[in-house]
Formats: sequence, C-alpha cells, structure tokens
Amino acid sequence: MSELRELYQTTILDHNKQPRNFRSLDPSSHEADGHNPLCGDQVTVQVRLSADGTVEDIGFQGSGCAISTASASMMTEAVKGKPLADVHALFDRFHDLVTSDPTEEPDLDGVGKLMVFAGVREFPMRVKCATLAWHTLKSAVEDGRTARTE
Ligand code: ZN
Repeated sequence: MSELRELYQTTILDHNKQPRNFRSLDPSSHEADGHNPLCGDQVTVQVRLSADGTVEDIGFQGSGCAISTASASMMTEAVKGKPLADVHALFDRFHDLVTSDPTEEPDLDGVGKLMVFAGVREFPMRVKCATLAWHTLKSAVEDGRTARTE
C-alpha cells in the first residue's frame, strides 16, 4: 500500500497543479454544477455527447481542494471518448473503490489510473471531494440542461 500512497500523493499534486481539460467547452450539449458544502468544493462540468451517446469532449471549471480538482481532472481523462454506459460503469467501480474498507486490499479491477484514489479510503471526509465531479457529470448527462447545442 505504501507505493500506492506515494502514487496517490504525486498524482493528486500533479493534477491539482495542472488540471486536464480545465476549460469551458463550446459547444457543449450538457452541463451541471456540483457543490460539496462539507469542504467548499464547487465544480461545473460540461460535456458534448455525440448522437449515439459517446462523450466526445468534456471540460470542467471551478474551485476546490486538491482532491476534488485532481479527481475532476482525472475523470475528464478517463471518460473522454467513452460511451455513457461505460462511464456509468466506471463511476460505479470508482465509487465502490473510494468507499471500500481501508483495511482490506483495494479492488483495482477496471479502474485504471483512478486506482490512486484508493488513498481516499483512509479519509472518509474526502470521499465527497473525490466523487463530486462524478456526481456532477452524472446529473449533467441524466437531467442536465441542454445548453448551447449549436
Ligand atoms: Zn474537498
């Protein structure tokens, strides 16, 4: 676990310093705002879905702690180009990972680079920071307003 912890720290720091896809997306087809009052994290996620429901492009903006920013950044990288069914499956895997028992070996199957968030298991207060962008993406594609389609 100590290697994973080190990877966790360096990855979070890297993505917090240089968040990927940190920009407004124009045009976007779906967007939603997310807020984590426990920590003060705010995020806006914008997505452009293709006609067949694939994430063509995604961007996020906002301000928050290092974990929420890094998680949003890594989320955008993880879901870009994926069909929504895969995005929802990945969110479920990610959610299971960060809420699993920290005394047990983490189940890293299928989570790819998001494995570093196993480190969040030791800080239950941070789970909401790590999942905020994901919840926001989910509400964007499920019932988010369709802003600026053309
Ligand atoms: Zn936070």
